[in-house]
Amino acid sequence: MQAQSSNHTINANAGGSTGALYVHIPFCRSKCGYCDFYSLPDRQELTGACVRAISLELRRHAHHLTIPLDSIFIGGGTPTALELPLLEQLLAMLAEYRDERTEFSIEANPCTVTSEVAKSLLNAGVNRVNIGAQSFVETELTALGRIHDPTEIVTAWETLRLAGHERLGLDLIYAAPGQNPDSWRFSLDQALDLAPDHLSCYALTIESDTDIGRQRDRGKFVEMDESDQAECYRAAVTTAHDAGLPQYEISNFAAPKNRCRHNLTYWLNEPYLGLGPAAASYLGGVRRTNRPDVEVYIQALDTGVAPPCHREKLTGRALMGETVMLALRMSEGINRRAFITRFGMDLTDAFGRTIQRYCRQGALQLTREHLRIAPDAMIVSNTIMADLLAEV
Ligand code: SF4
Repeated sequence: MQAQSSNHTINANAGGSTGALYVHIPFCRSKCGYCDFYSLPDRQELTGACVRAISLELRRHAHHLTIPLDSIFIGGGTPTALELPLLEQLLAMLAEYRDERTEFSIEANPCTVTSEVAKSLLNAGVNRVNIGAQSFVETELTALGRIHDPTEIVTAWETLRLAGHERLGLDLIYAAPGQNPDSWRFSLDQALDLAPDHLSCYALTIESDTDIGRQRDRGKFVEMDESDQAECYRAAVTTAHDAGLPQYEISNFAAPKNRCRHNLTYWLNEPYLGLGPAAASYLGGVRRTNRPDVEVYIQALDTGVAPPCHREKLTGRALMGETVMLALRMSEGINRRAFITRFGMDLTDAFGRTIQRYCRQGALQLTREHLRIAPDAMIVSNTIMADLLAEV
């Protein structure tokens, strides 16, 4: 059963079938200094076996998929770092599950986008390419451990456009080592000069077990302070808005027709299937995350068994809390009627104390239809969400 929100739909029972497929390719040309994703540099010898294992995992779970799929998202890692014949093999396998209505997305590192790659993506039906630009300042890219320079971002962009790609997005990072609000504005302007259909701006999260985390712990650089981070965030919101890319999620900006359909699935807490090592699925109310170990993953599927994974079933108030927390990331917030349909009670019955407190402060807005975080309060969304979850 589905309940209709003004713009999106929340699946009432998070059932065992889905139109959203994620594929994790865990290989990169080198490891960026801030990256704590499951991605391996220099493991070229495993790529073929991994793609074959992904095809076996897809076959095991194909009965969960509603075909044609609504969205396919190939992420990682750097999927476009695969050798071209292998990338084409992967694309052909996935293309069987799409038609012209499917949003077929892939993530790309600028230095992996050749005209051959661009054409192969287009021929397979990929209709959304997201480029990890991160910054247009060379020293910041070096500090982040990126292997491309600013000109390669522009070259990749032009290569994709020349091949005929119409929907292109860019990812940027703020609060990078050595960055300041002025250099951030420069990167924003450079990005928007390319007229992307979609822009993501993420604050750098520094994890201790990364190169950058270790540099920080040794005092090699000082993290951007909170007020500069807030200035960067506000600059992103206003500059993107003025360029025709309104904020639709804490870190994401696009016109309604160009919102990332696949990520909306996550924020609406709807079912999806994830394939590949470290990939997560959410089916039948169970979140299943494959162990982040490509060799174990390949070996399991080659011997005909399911790859080892971590399973978690969220129910009751925990599921309610997660659903609210995810939906409040979106500018439109959570649809109250959809929440009632899914959980049998109104948001104000489930989280009344926190909602009242933040509504009084103006940080939450409650209408007959929605609960949303006020635009000015998006910057403190983590605090609001933590307080809502504490009421679970
Ligand atoms: S390209 Fe992306 S996935 Fe690969 S190491 Fe860099 S940040 Fe991580």
